[in-house]
Amino acid sequence: MPDHYAVIGNPVAQSKSPLIHAEFSRQTGESIRYDAILAPVDEFARAVADFRQQGGRGLNVTVPFKLDAFRMCDRVSGRADAAEAANTLVFEEGHIFGDNTDGAGLVRDVTSNLGFPLAGKRVLLVGAGGAARGVMMPVLEREPCILVIANRTPQKAYDLQQRFSDHGKVVAVAYHDLRGEHFDLVINATSASLYGELPPLPVGIFAPRSLAYDMMYGKGHTPFLQFARLQGAEYLADGVGMLVEQAAESFFVWRGIRPRTDVVIKMLRPEA
Ligand code: NDP
Repeated sequence: MPDHYAVIGNPVAQSKSPLIHAEFSRQTGESIRYDAILAPVDEFARAVADFRQQGGRGLNVTVPFKLDAFRMCDRVSGRADAAEAANTLVFEEGHIFGDNTDGAGLVRDVTSNLGFPLAGKRVLLVGAGGAARGVMMPVLEREPCILVIANRTPQKAYDLQQRFSDHGKVVAVAYHDLRGEHFDLVINATSASLYGELPPLPVGIFAPRSLAYDMMYGKGHTPFLQFARLQGAEYLADGVGMLVEQAAESFFVWRGIRPRTDVVIKMLRPEA
């Protein structure tokens, strides 16, 4: 019987994780079964317990359960602890270990796949939800010159500033404070693209040779990426690379083998 894994979320039908892990399994020869589980929003714990009961070895956790997943762990990695959210669960003898691979996925995509080093760069993180929180620590570990966070609800950005200010120069601002500022990397970690909307970013925020990165994927050129192109950002990227890299990191946590990601990114982004 192959070891059993799954992604759990609500909704989950749109998830590309089963496809990605099937490809990792084929590529590495690791025999795994990987499904998608739709959990009712108020029955996450029961759905996880059922999966464990049936012999499940690990889960990827997606919206809206990453915080619940973190809270149910007996042991967590430093990066899950920093984010207070888990997207990867490992079921050990009587214990649940939680990890968060989102930030590592983003950083690997930006620095390795896109060849854009973060050290010394001015980085703007737009949004302060679960995804933003997950990438704060891994981005700060790359020692950018400054990490600015802007969010529609400013208090959430200030909370992140407080939480992470021991790890680097972190400044929270309201959108209108961004006027006159410019950045080498602007990461859209809001869900605005999901609704075809653009966060209220002022013009002129993209420095020469800057990268605009939208965590959203599968929506083509989002309003954020269109805005970035018009504003002179030199490089544009969607979140497909992050998605595949965070999956590879989860696969490594479970199986101890790092699969190749380039072929899978290409598979999911055939037009590139
Ligand atoms: P959350 O619901 O936790 O946070 C949503 C964030 O978006 C909040 O900061 C919210 O602001 C902001 N927001 C929502 N709508 C707007 C808008 N119209 N204008 C400005 N700000 C807005 O979501 P997540 O953090 O989990 O996910 C964010 C995005 O990242 C999603 O698009 C998701 O698909 C993507 N993602 C991609 C991954 C990948 O692997 N590529 C991995 C994880 C996430 P406020 O606080 O004011 O409500």
